[in-house]
Amino acid sequence: MVNKVTVLGSLNVDTILKIKRLPQPGETMAMEAKKNAGGGKGSNQAVAASRLGAQTSFIGKVGNDENGRFMQEILTTAQVDTQYVSVSEDKATGQAFILLQASGENSIIIDGGSNQAITTDDIYQAQTKIEAADFLVTQFETPLESATLAFEIAKKAGVTTILNPAPAQEAPQTLLANVDLIAPNETEAEILTGIKVVDAQSQHQAAKKLQAKGVKNVIITLGSRGAYYLTADQKEGLVPAFKVQAVDTTAAGDTFLGALSSQLKPDFSNIEEAILFANQASALAVQKLGAVPSIPTFAEVSAQLN
Ligand code: ATP
Repeated sequence: MVNKVTVLGSLNVDTILKIKRLPQPGETMAMEAKKNAGGGKGSNQAVAASRLGAQTSFIGKVGNDENGRFMQEILTTAQVDTQYVSVSEDKATGQAFILLQASGENSIIIDGGSNQAITTDDIYQAQTKIEAADFLVTQFETPLESATLAFEIAKKAGVTTILNPAPAQEAPQTLLANVDLIAPNETEAEILTGIKVVDAQSQHQAAKKLQAKGVKNVIITLGSRGAYYLTADQKEGLVPAFKVQAVDTTAAGDTFLGALSSQLKPDFSNIEEAILFANQASALAVQKLGAVPSIPTFAEVSAQLN
């Protein structure tokens, strides 16, 4: 059975400026190269879900500009349904300015733009698309108010909800109460719980604290260590990452989330298997440069697993 996944989230054009090092305050510096690429957590996760086998729809907002058309094209090419990607007449498409140093380190500045203009009206417009899904997935790059409403609609319709709390911020209780699965990375888990995730004990404690906030199931992604899970019925485990040579971890987390939502059963009965698939998908992604170009297909992941 093919999962139906609806992603509510951000669409950003990433402008990557390659520089030797960060300029000092007051210093002017020439860049070495500039490249535009599709990005935004929402868009990356939707492209991943679709490439990895889910029937995927997107709810988001672009500006009436070249960047908006560029992002629509990326989703369409990945066979993501864009019926509910609306166009803002007064806000430009979201952008991320990525300062990529020769050392490989990234510094990122985000202009939320039209992503921040998503309203509760947009959510009501897309209500049938939310209700028809098996999974609703969102992150924190779009307004909390619209995510809260979308999750409320989803839960009333029996849709399984997944929250990727990135970038980390405090979420209202009304949202958390409607979260079936929260999936932070280690840093986000620490910001949300105050517990530094370093070992088996701390990852368990952080997950328990997230459950105490009202969410039912927890997956904490642990970079090259893999992913830890704690389910509503207190089943837990660590699924180790695949050992690979990482060249660019951009969108590792987004690939993981998209892959997971494409394979998970809404009752979480195959959680270990779905995490294994997501680990394999993101292990392939970290071996390639870029966000969208690095996301593998279902066939590529399956070939590795068999
Ligand atoms: P990013 O912000 O870089 O997109 P993230 O911080 O949200 O990623 P991580 O926990 O770093 O998410 O990684 C997500 C998943 O990607 C991990 O659970 C793991 O399966 C895979 N992964 C990440 N880094 C590596 C690596 N170096 N080797 C193998 N797998 C990796």
